[in-house]
Amino acid sequence: MGLLATEDWILRMKVYDVCILGSGLASTMLGSILARQGVRTLLLDRSAHPRFAIGESTIPSTTGFLKILARRYDVPEIETLSSFNRIKRVAPSCGVKRAFTFIYHRRGRPHAPSEAMEYRTFPPPLGPDVHLLRSEVDAYMAGVAVRYGAQLEEGAEVREVELRDVVRVVLADGSARHARFIVDGSGHKSVLARQLDLRDPEPRLQTRSRVIFTHMRGVRPYDHSAGPRSAYRLTHTPFHQSTLHHVFDGGWSWVIPFDNHPDATHRQCSVGLCLDLAKHPANGRDGEEEFWEIIREFPGIARHFEGATATRRWVSTGRLQYTSRSVAGPRWCLLPHAASFVDPLFSSGLSLSTWGINILARELLDATAAGDPGDARLGFYETYLNRSIAHYDQLIAGSYASWADFELWNAWYRMWTIGAFLQVAGELTHLARVVDSGDASAFTMAPYRALQSIDYAPFERLFDASRAELDAVGEGRLSTSEAAARILSHVHAAELAPRSFTDPESRSPITATLGNILRLLAWGRYRSTAELRTLFFSENHRIIPLLARELSHTAWQERRSLRGLFRLARDVVSTRNREFMARDEAS
Ligand SMILES: Cc1cc2nc3c(=O)[nH]c(=O)nc-3n(C[C@H](O)[C@H](O)[C@H](O)COP(=O)(O)OP(=O)(O)OC[C@H]3O[C@@H](n4cnc5c(N)ncnc54)[C@H](O)[C@@H]3O)c2cc1C
Repeated sequence: MGLLATEDWILRMKVYDVCILGSGLASTMLGSILARQGVRTLLLDRSAHPRFAIGESTIPSTTGFLKILARRYDVPEIETLSSFNRIKRVAPSCGVKRAFTFIYHRRGRPHAPSEAMEYRTFPPPLGPDVHLLRSEVDAYMAGVAVRYGAQLEEGAEVREVELRDVVRVVLADGSARHARFIVDGSGHKSVLARQLDLRDPEPRLQTRSRVIFTHMRGVRPYDHSAGPRSAYRLTHTPFHQSTLHHVFDGGWSWVIPFDNHPDATHRQCSVGLCLDLAKHPANGRDGEEEFWEIIREFPGIARHFEGATATRRWVSTGRLQYTSRSVAGPRWCLLPHAASFVDPLFSSGLSLSTWGINILARELLDATAAGDPGDARLGFYETYLNRSIAHYDQLIAGSYASWADFELWNAWYRMWTIGAFLQVAGELTHLARVVDSGDASAFTMAPYRALQSIDYAPFERLFDASRAELDAVGEGRLSTSEAAARILSHVHAAELAPRSFTDPESRSPITATLGNILRLLAWGRYRSTAELRTLFFSENHRIIPLLARELSHTAWQERRSLRGLFRLARDVVSTRNREFMARDEAS
């Protein structure tokens, strides 16, 4: 046997501790953590990096978990993904993301600037957030996993998994790999879900939507076609530096620009259109044709896409939702995206992935250290993944329903912002504890177990009461304006967030400069209820020094560039800038 053939034979006979199917962002983050901690890890992917992947918009909860994963498991490269200032050094094609903006549209009518909402992401030093060009970011993270010692095989399509004491993974070429535990990160076409017949024939979800998407060139910044900025009740964050959502009765469209800063190298935007199946049933039509036909019904959206052209093939799906009757068993588990999916609205995908990795990594590391990763206890993961998915489903189905009327959407939208606010306050609390004392015990305790604060009983009560008002509209028992008023009165009575989150006239609850982040922390410490203070704002004395350290670290990284230092200083104190176009487009 020649030397190469011998190496190949050894590789095939080797028994890994953990084999991860897929090398997407979730798989490679988990693979990096496991390999970094000495777990013998194999990643198998049918494709090869760089390759296209969808899932490009982060939310502050994702950003928070990226920081937590990096610190808790000592993989600093994961934190690189958590802010634009960091990621631009390793994945320069990514875009900057400073906010979520939701523009409400009515068929055949011009858009009214008062009907726009904004939710700011983190300012420096924690942010700004990122529009992830996944081909580049996933390739970076795959490289990190390999550097920490994970074995990555590309072009290795997994055909079958035989679950025994030593799991046998059979590839399309007939060869086999062996491991003591299988993590399935192969996404919606999950190998294990197919093989173990895990998919619910009818997803256990109320949301019923489909999507048409592509990447486009020539999408002009919305700043150029929107009304005058003074007409909006928003901060001056450029629209082109946010994940822009055009929402309307029946669906919504996303615009995720990568070409929105002077150093941009990728002159494209991710564009998608999600449609409520009740109002836009699947019809087998060409995706591109249908996209333009629907967009043209809304003058404000049509103007935004004028002159834009697709740079890759259009994808048009049937119903997007799927769920699995089980997500973990003896010697196997599914990563969140392999288990279930609701809808891209509110960018929950990577937030669920990072949340899941945080739980799974600990269990797999402990079980491996004790002798067998197959002994990992994953009941907690399954319970709270399902709970988080069920919540996102209610939130998203409610959003589609609320778009029948702007007032109703304006009220329902608070369910997302308040849940997100408390979630992130909790994550900052955990981050500060992990950094200061390595204490990660609270992740498996109430009220932090599920995403979007749904594990916190007062928020759960608020959500359920508000959801009942929406249901009453659906059943014809309440008008949309009565339901909106009732939801807002529940929101007000719950006292879970500062007034900017609860006032219906407020369209931008966080003007995210560093000063305002400190003001929110001060609200939590001195103005919120005693319970909120204890549960979500008890670590301000650690968070503030952490922010100061992060700020000086970021400034140190920018020390060689006067322009970089200027931008950092500006973004700490202001939401305004005029740098939302790639350099040669601006000139
Ligand atoms: C339309 C749409 C828009 C979305 N937008 C967002 C968003 O804005 N923000 C967000 O956070 N999330 C979003 N998501 C969710 C996001 O895409 C996922 O959460 C994320 O990509 C999960 O990463 P992953 O690594 O688990 O899986 P993936 O990135 O899907 O990677 C799966 C990998 O498995 C490999 N694979 C598949 N089958 C096999 C096989 N048989 N053998 C070997 N390898 C295999 C594939 O080649 C691929 O590399 C969106 C999802 C959709 C559908």
